[in-house]
Amino acid sequence: MNTKEIIAMTSAYVMHTYGRIPLALVRGEGARVWDAEGREYLDFVGGLAVCSLGHCHPAVTQAIAAQARTLMHVSNLYHIEPQARLAKVLVENSCAGKVFFCNSGAEANEAAIKLARKYAKKNLGPDKYEIITALKSFHGRTLATITATGQTKYQQGFEPLPQGFKYVPFNDLNALKEAVGPHTCAVMLEPVQGEGGVYEVTPEYLTGVKEICRQQGLLLIYDEVQCGLGRTGKFLAYQHYGVEPDIFTLAKALGGGFPIGAMLARENAASAFSPGDHASTFGGNPLACAAGLAAMDQMLNRGVVDNAARVGEYFKNKLALLSGRYKFISEVRGRGLLLGVELSVDGREAVVRCQDRGLLINCVNNNVLRFIPPLIITEKDVDAALEILTGVLDEINHGGK
Ligand SMILES: *Cc1c(COP(=O)(O)O)cnc(C)c1O
Repeated sequence: MNTKEIIAMTSAYVMHTYGRIPLALVRGEGARVWDAEGREYLDFVGGLAVCSLGHCHPAVTQAIAAQARTLMHVSNLYHIEPQARLAKVLVENSCAGKVFFCNSGAEANEAAIKLARKYAKKNLGPDKYEIITALKSFHGRTLATITATGQTKYQQGFEPLPQGFKYVPFNDLNALKEAVGPHTCAVMLEPVQGEGGVYEVTPEYLTGVKEICRQQGLLLIYDEVQCGLGRTGKFLAYQHYGVEPDIFTLAKALGGGFPIGAMLARENAASAFSPGDHASTFGGNPLACAAGLAAMDQMLNRGVVDNAARVGEYFKNKLALLSGRYKFISEVRGRGLLLGVELSVDGREAVVRCQDRGLLINCVNNNVLRFIPPLIITEKDVDAALEILTGVLDEINHGGK
C-alpha cells in the first residue's frame, strides 16, 4: 500500500483519537525510518522515547523471534522464567525490592496509585488516600491516570473523575508543604516532565519533597515512564539527584520497542500487596519479558546510557548556541536525550518543515520542540539533525511562514 491508501484506510476504520501526521512509516533500522514510498528519515522522535536502542535492534528482534517460537503466553497462574530474570535485573539496578509487570505506562501508574492507597490504608490509617501530583505532569490516559495528570485538557469531557488527587506547581516546595493535608498518602512526580514541556526537577526541590515525605510519612512515587531507562544519561533519572523513591514506574523503552510496563517498589511498600490485590493477564508474559531482558542487557552492558549522556550534552550545547542566534528561541531545557527547545512562536510549522527535509521531531504544547531520539545516536547524527533544523529555523526567521 502507498501512503495515500494507508491514510484512507486508517481514516475509514480506525477510531479518530489521534491528530496524525500524514506519513506512514513501514520500516526502521537504527536511528532511521522509511515511509511507504521508500523515503528515508532521521528519527529524533524514536517512537516517543520507546525505541531507545534504535529501530529493530538485532539483539531484541532475535530474542523476540526465539521466544515467540518457544512460548508466548501462559498467564500469571504459573511461574515465568523471563519475568523473574527481568525483575532481578531491574531490582539489581535500582532502589526497588520487587516488581509488578504490566503492559504500558498508564497501567504502571495505575498500579502505583493502587499500591500507594493499599499501603496507606494498611499502615497510615483508613482516611489516607490522597495523592499530590504536579501541574504540567503527565501520567497516562486511564481514568485514574488522567486525574493524576495535572493538565485539565486531558480530563475535560470525562467527568466525574476519581477522587483523591490534588495538584501543586512543580518545583515549588512551599506549595507542596501547604498542600499536604489529613488525607494525603503520597506525592507523585516525574523527575523530568516530558509531555508537559520538558521541565527538569531541581535538586533542592526533590530533596525537600523527600524530607516532607519522611516527616509526614508519605510515599514518594516517581513516574520514570519517559525519563527513565537511560533517557537522561543515567539508568534512572532519579540517580542524578540521589533522592530515592518508594515506588517508581517504567514502560516506554523497557521492551526495546515491545509493549511492557513495570511498577517497582521498595520491599516495605511492595509488601502492602497480597495475592489477589492486583493482576494483569498479559503483564510479564514470556514474550514481552524476553524483549525486555534483551533490551536491558544492551542498555546496561553496552554503553548505551553513557552514550546518551555524552551525545545529549553535545546536542544540548549546540542547541544552546542556536538559542543565541534566533530571537524566537526562548529556552533550551532538559537532560541527556530528553531535550526541549521552547519557542515564542508556534512550533508545529518547524515539525512539518523538518519532516519535509528528512528529520522527524516532535512538538509539545504547540511551542516546545522536543527531541527524544534513540539513545544510540552519534554526534554525526546530531550534526545532521542540526543542519536540517538550522535550515528550517532560518526559513522561519526570514518570515517564510
Ligand atoms: C507516555 C507516558 C505515560 C503513559 O504511558 P502509556 O504507555 O502511553 O500508557 C505515563 N507517564 C509518562 C511520564 C509518560 O511519558
